[in-house]
Amino acid sequence: MNHRHNRSGLTRRQLIKGIGAASLLPLMGSAPFAIGGQNAGRVLVVGGGFGGATAAKYLKRANPAIEVILIEPNETFYTCPFSNLHLGGLRQMDAIAHGYAELEDRYGVRVIHATAEDVDADAHQVTLSTGRKLDYDRLVLSPGIDMRWNALEGYDEEAAEKAPHAWKAGTQTELLRSQLEAMDDGGTFVMVAPANPFRCPPGPYERASLVANYLAQYKPKSKVLILDAKDNFSKQGLFTAGWERLYGDRIEWVGLSNDGRVTRVDADRLEVETEFGTVHRADVLNVIPPQKAGWIAERAGVTDDSGWVPVKAETFESRQVADIYVVGDATVAAPMPKSGFCANGQAKVVAAAIAASLESRPAPEAYWTNTCYSLVGPEYGISVAGVYRVQDGVIAEVEGAGGLSPADASDATRALEAEYAVGWYNAICQDTWGTPLGGRAT
Ligand SMILES: Cc1cc2nc3c(=O)[nH]c(=O)nc-3n(C[C@H](O)[C@H](O)[C@H](O)COP(=O)(O)OP(=O)(O)OC[C@H]3O[C@@H](n4cnc5c(N)ncnc54)[C@H](O)[C@@H]3O)c2cc1C
Repeated sequence: MNHRHNRSGLTRRQLIKGIGAASLLPLMGSAPFAIGGQNAGRVLVVGGGFGGATAAKYLKRANPAIEVILIEPNETFYTCPFSNLHLGGLRQMDAIAHGYAELEDRYGVRVIHATAEDVDADAHQVTLSTGRKLDYDRLVLSPGIDMRWNALEGYDEEAAEKAPHAWKAGTQTELLRSQLEAMDDGGTFVMVAPANPFRCPPGPYERASLVANYLAQYKPKSKVLILDAKDNFSKQGLFTAGWERLYGDRIEWVGLSNDGRVTRVDADRLEVETEFGTVHRADVLNVIPPQKAGWIAERAGVTDDSGWVPVKAETFESRQVADIYVVGDATVAAPMPKSGFCANGQAKVVAAAIAASLESRPAPEAYWTNTCYSLVGPEYGISVAGVYRVQDGVIAEVEGAGGLSPADASDATRALEAEYAVGWYNAICQDTWGTPLGGRAT
């Protein structure tokens, strides 16, 4: 139990009222009562995406007496998973939208819609955009990613309004979709793909696939060009076989060794320039720039020179600052990929570790699984799966576990994997926000 700090959320009057109410409870035959969770400690969770929402829920499941406050600016969270389906015209935005009512009503998480502006790790205090200061016993950060603006010359926030990244789902996704819809037949959709590490290693290639699927139906003279800062990508063999099978030569991929690395972006002219000076003109330009941990992580002092957050493998507590736990894309957790599935699993480990540490118990041993599904077409799914555990203090992939979809699968098997992808999406959203969405990818 850690009880060093004032509960700034509770006045002395509320406290006395709470104690009075608690003393009556046994007479009323009710369950044990925890006053605002004060006996078990207060945990603040920053970010209501895959990692943060899961951590908040599983902290309450681990011990309902922990006071859990989730800080997230948006009332609606749009998932990046399945946002490529929206780009391809296969799913509406409201079918990738999730809210926080279930976390509040069913699990007793307190949700504050605000931005965490600052973290004072010594004082164990977070300052919100509203000016309010909240004390914590433990802090969970799951802020996802931020773009490294100007890492590609000319690509900043303003340029992203003309050449969207759509690497955080929401208005950027809608902007890119509207540009694609407005593109004339015969146009070229140019995607700039980053070097590792970045959010969702197979994501760019799923996007190229679903854009090609849309073009094949509605703008058949149009093409997709991927300019890539690396020579290999996730599920490459499966993607390229699928592209050939479904789209012929509609998708062209240019890797690093073939002058695929873009160094300069001119968003006004929809032009990009590569390392060796080749200029490509786009009709729709999708720039996925290099990334780093969400900025609040740096503010909290938990990032290193890489811009990402090193964590202790067993608990995902920051290696640099005590009592701050970080999950999801913001962390250095390779060989685990930066995926929603991994963020969800890491968050469960963090919830168990924090609940244990608040009771001075050792954390349970951690291990994780991950499956990344990708849709090459609405009825053509592929996947890669992995199992991870801690070995000698670092996260390691368990050899022989997991693997790829078979290279020579039939169309029927690919269709089955597309169904698995929908099932996965529904299940993980149910687990994270309590809001399932049924239906097929189409
Ligand atoms: C196109 C695409 C497709 C993808 N497909 C898949 C897939 O099929 N499967 C899969 O597993 N993963 C997929 N991913 C990856 C997945 O989206 C991420 O790995 C996942 O969102 C990471 O979770 P997170 O909690 O780290 O960050 P997020 O889910 O992005 O959540 C971060 C949250 O923190 C909030 N936040 C940030 N800063 C603050 C602050 N200062 N104060 C308060 N709140 C803050 C943000 O508003 C946001 O809600 C995909 C990604 C992309 C881009």
